[in-house]
Amino acid sequence: MKKDKILVIGACGQIGVELTLALRKMYGDNNVVASDLREEHELLRGSGPYVSLDVMNKEMLHVLVIRHNITQVYLLAAILSATGEKNPLLAWHINMQSLLNVLDIAKEEGLDKVYWPSSIAVFGPDSPKEATPQHTVIEPTTIYGISKFAGERWCEYYNHRYGVDVRSLRYPGLISYKSAPGGGTTDYAVEIYHEALEEGTYKCFLSESTYLPMMYMPDAIRATIELMEADSARISVRSSYNLSGMSFSPKEIAGAIQQRLPDFTISYEPDYRQQIAEGWPKSIDDSLAAKDWGWKPEFDLEKMTDDMLKNLKVQKN
Ligand code: NAD
Repeated sequence: MKKDKILVIGACGQIGVELTLALRKMYGDNNVVASDLREEHELLRGSGPYVSLDVMNKEMLHVLVIRHNITQVYLLAAILSATGEKNPLLAWHINMQSLLNVLDIAKEEGLDKVYWPSSIAVFGPDSPKEATPQHTVIEPTTIYGISKFAGERWCEYYNHRYGVDVRSLRYPGLISYKSAPGGGTTDYAVEIYHEALEEGTYKCFLSESTYLPMMYMPDAIRATIELMEADSARISVRSSYNLSGMSFSPKEIAGAIQQRLPDFTISYEPDYRQQIAEGWPKSIDDSLAAKDWGWKPEFDLEKMTDDMLKNLKVQKN
């Protein structure tokens, strides 16, 4: 029987750190190789193998996969929405080529599974805003969304044409306290907790009533692992699954913080990210994920706020 050996690419990012640690718990520390362009994240240090890798270098990636007998790849390296708008051609190049490198090596080496996340950014201003369905108008207007949508099509293509077992989730904005967010439009929902504890006030780059779909990191990690562990026959979507946790506006998250820290104040100064947010859904219908592999979120705004503040207080002391 072939032993699972996992490569996480982009392991030092907001999702990568926590996903790598969770996978190491499940598969054994030495069976999960973490890799990134950056220096090894402090939370990963000493917890398992780490290699420096530029995913754009296909030959290096290929050698790594062969040398470590890799059977599964989690590709998390990407340029995110807000950063992508500053350098669209770079975002397109990195987001597409990294995925094509991984999919092609998966095909050539007959890898067991590939995971690659998409995003709610695939939806655009003409998609339904409330309970956005799995299959609907998909006309993204950010380069990030365009690259994610094209990536979804490539995933489905490699599955249908070559049988690559690639699986994907359209993550909402992810909120976490362990590793910092990497330049997304929903980063405010992480910053606000830090600033609430450090400064007692926060200047928000989105307007007070901008509703967006969000998810607490433990739910996102669990969703990823549950999808990857599901029997292949249950995966009916080979592009990317809608995934939902909660939805709230800056005003509502500020309210949840004020209930716990009554002196906290917020002001609003929307910037270019407001326009990106306005093109995205307010909430997501993820009934297909529930039906196919049993997805159910655990965290709402209240439960997440309790957990974020508790853990950040410990971290800051
Ligand atoms: P992040 O920016 O925090 O981390 C990405 C990591 O990839 C970084 O550590 C970076 O150094 C690394 N990287 C970049 N270029 C690389 C390269 N050429 N070679 C190797 N590593 C490279 O991003 P994240 O928030 O952890 O997101 C991971 C994935 O999830 C991305 O595909 C992102 O689009 C998707 N996603 C994230 C969110 C979110 O809210 N965080 C929401 C939707 C989708």
